[in-house]
Amino acid sequence: MLRRTLPRKYDYKKIETDWQNKWELWNIYRFNKEDRSQPTYVIDTPPPYPSGEFHTGNALNWCYIDAVARYMRMRGYNVYFPQGWDCHGLPTEVRAEKTYNVHKSSMPYNEFLRICMELTDKWIKQMKRTMKRLGFSIDWSLEYRTMDPQYWSKTQYSFIQMYKKGFVYRGEHPVLWCPRCETAIAEAEVEYVNRNTKLYYIKFEKEEKDGFKTIATTRPELLPACVGILVNPNDKRYSELIGKKLIVPIFNRKVEVYADEDVDPSFGSGIVMVCTFGDKTDVKWQHKFRLPIIKVIDETGRMTREAEEFVGLTIKECKEKIVSKLKKMNKIVKEEDLTQSIGTCWRCHTPVEILVKNQWFVKTRSLTQDILKWADKIKWVPKWAKNRLIDWVNSLDWDWVISRQRIFATPIPIWYCKSCGEIIVAKEEWLPVDPRSEIPRINKCPRCGGTEFIGESDVMDTWMDSSITCAVHAGWPYDLESFKRLFPADLQPNGYDIIRTWDYYLIVRGLILFGKPQFKIGLINGMVRGTDGRMMHKSYGNYVEAVEVIDKYGADSLRQWAFSGGTTGSDVSFRWEDIEYGWRFLLKLWNAARFVSIHIENYVYEENVNLTLIDRWILFKLRNLIVQVTEEMDGFQFNMALDNIRRFFWHIFCDQYIEAAKHRLYGDDEESKKAAKYTLYKVLYISLQLLAPFIPHMVEEIYQKLYTEDKGFSSIHVSPWPKVEINGISEEEEQEGNLIIAIISELRRRKSANRVPLSASINEAIINVPKNLKRVISKNEEIISKVIKAKKITIKVDEEEKAVKLKDYPGISVNIKK
Ligand SMILES: [Zn+2]
Ligand SMILES: [Zn+2]
Repeated sequence: MLRRTLPRKYDYKKIETDWQNKWELWNIYRFNKEDRSQPTYVIDTPPPYPSGEFHTGNALNWCYIDAVARYMRMRGYNVYFPQGWDCHGLPTEVRAEKTYNVHKSSMPYNEFLRICMELTDKWIKQMKRTMKRLGFSIDWSLEYRTMDPQYWSKTQYSFIQMYKKGFVYRGEHPVLWCPRCETAIAEAEVEYVNRNTKLYYIKFEKEEKDGFKTIATTRPELLPACVGILVNPNDKRYSELIGKKLIVPIFNRKVEVYADEDVDPSFGSGIVMVCTFGDKTDVKWQHKFRLPIIKVIDETGRMTREAEEFVGLTIKECKEKIVSKLKKMNKIVKEEDLTQSIGTCWRCHTPVEILVKNQWFVKTRSLTQDILKWADKIKWVPKWAKNRLIDWVNSLDWDWVISRQRIFATPIPIWYCKSCGEIIVAKEEWLPVDPRSEIPRINKCPRCGGTEFIGESDVMDTWMDSSITCAVHAGWPYDLESFKRLFPADLQPNGYDIIRTWDYYLIVRGLILFGKPQFKIGLINGMVRGTDGRMMHKSYGNYVEAVEVIDKYGADSLRQWAFSGGTTGSDVSFRWEDIEYGWRFLLKLWNAARFVSIHIENYVYEENVNLTLIDRWILFKLRNLIVQVTEEMDGFQFNMALDNIRRFFWHIFCDQYIEAAKHRLYGDDEESKKAAKYTLYKVLYISLQLLAPFIPHMVEEIYQKLYTEDKGFSSIHVSPWPKVEINGISEEEEQEGNLIIAIISELRRRKSANRVPLSASINEAIINVPKNLKRVISKNEEIISKVIKAKKITIKVDEEEKAVKLKDYPGISVNIKK
């Protein structure tokens, strides 16, 4: 049997592409629906937002997922590794407007939808190309896009189910609102940032006009919306004020003073005004004291008629005008600088407002205890991810607002009767529907008999699309047999930045729709930081696209960086040095495999061989490596697994074993040669298998050239994960091997220190040993002399001589004579 020896050069550009094409052609990553012999392993791959770019941060996320998929396949699982695209959203609407120089409100909505879809399509193609170039073992036959009608129908189906179960309702409530995006947003979409602002101490005249009280506020522009004034009931300074009224300056409205324990007497003057709405506490107090609501800010962030002379101004303009007017009226007592944490829109960073709007909500608050209970039953890697989720769940004040005032999104399957307002919910068999252009398939309103209907123009939050992915992958709602088999998902991988959104919403939807969470393990990855240590971001100039790295060093180098950057869940810095290290490892692997390929060209594998101590020693090390790496892969500790394999291969197998075996490969002792070849053959093969989840291209290339005929697997990626074989190797022998290898290494170092070429002979090697080790060293005298090329070995017992002591064996020292 002839094997092909490897060429000197590893052409990663050609080889990586070749394998990617063949894997796809051979369908080796296909989930086998018919096969019931293997257990399934289902991954709920995050559907990325199609921005067109796939940066090194995305690469990190997907490398983790791919390593798990590849490992589980080799462990004998029928792996379900789908890929979807979370298409909808505001950024695409904004980019579509820019790209085509249009405004969404000035064109038919379906025309605008079409251009959004067109762009999304283009960006998906770009990202997909990069993902393929990274060698991800995605089953592309399972691809889906949330903007497709088939997916719309699933999102709408889930909406209807939740509505029927009483978990979805429409109501007029305060919601967080982005005035720039002109839409409601959920608490999860608010990012808190610290901003410097001013605290104004404003005079409010007493009702009896016999003096004034001072109220401190950062938002004087909300004075026209002041509906109540509060003091702490234990604050003696203001006890006489409770129940009386103060006059709002400029607007001259009388507002009553109430007492509430939650007022902090040490903030400002200790008196607060309640405006509808400055923040969430205003919402709480407005509700508690049944205060009226005055809407002074509209959807676009401008002042309404309620702001009287300030109508039409932006919030910022209004603030300036009111402050200057108050100053003229001598109503400002003092100003203080203040750093305040304010909520901003996560998409556009505009400060969010609280507006009262008629919106659709999901009842999430009532689920808090259930969510906390189930969060405990999910396995979180790393463990701290669970605490993030718990903290988030406990911090939520409101139900989840799921309606959005946008266009590119899944329509809400609802109509309203024009005459009585009755809500008409689409029937499951009508789906998908778009009430913006379709009429309900009923003749008349079931309540009043009216025949005219208004379609809901609001659409759904994109998290409504993506928080049912586990169920959708499993076949829900149309293939319930498959659903039974594949739900819940085994693995839910995502970055820690979306624990509060994706993980949280998946759990919420799972509990409402299925009575349990949609996944068993949450695998959390960190964020990628640029070379300057800051988060990788385009505007920082530290942003690296994955393709740039692939072009320069190949996918297998980039992948090694992703795995070895840090423990699972921690942030990883992007460093070109790490990419180069990965590349150097590939070269080492290639050269070692090439060396092996030359020696096993005509080798016929057989189990019965007479192994030497050093052969058994490396096989024992390999055995331990399998145990260790398997354990680490089971625990998702990719950095440890890869580092251990690389250390073994590079520093134990190449630097020590191969060096110690060379003389046998080139010698005349056929039996000894056979044992060395057996060992090279086996160690290389298993090393390739262990490396398969990390560097799939190079291991495949080597496997196909050297092993495919013997092993018979179409690809190394469908070969079974290596088993732990004992082979009668004992721990004592490993110790013995360690000792001999340590002596050989030190003697080799002595040779180079004395400028003797490693290939040249020396006259004598002297080894000083403690008495108890003399026997074991004498036993291995031959191998030491052959590897080191010494004509004579002298073993001395406990003799102090000018010699170099061994690092791990202080009792032993060696020297050479040229
Ligand atoms: Zn916004
Ligand atoms: Zn009606």
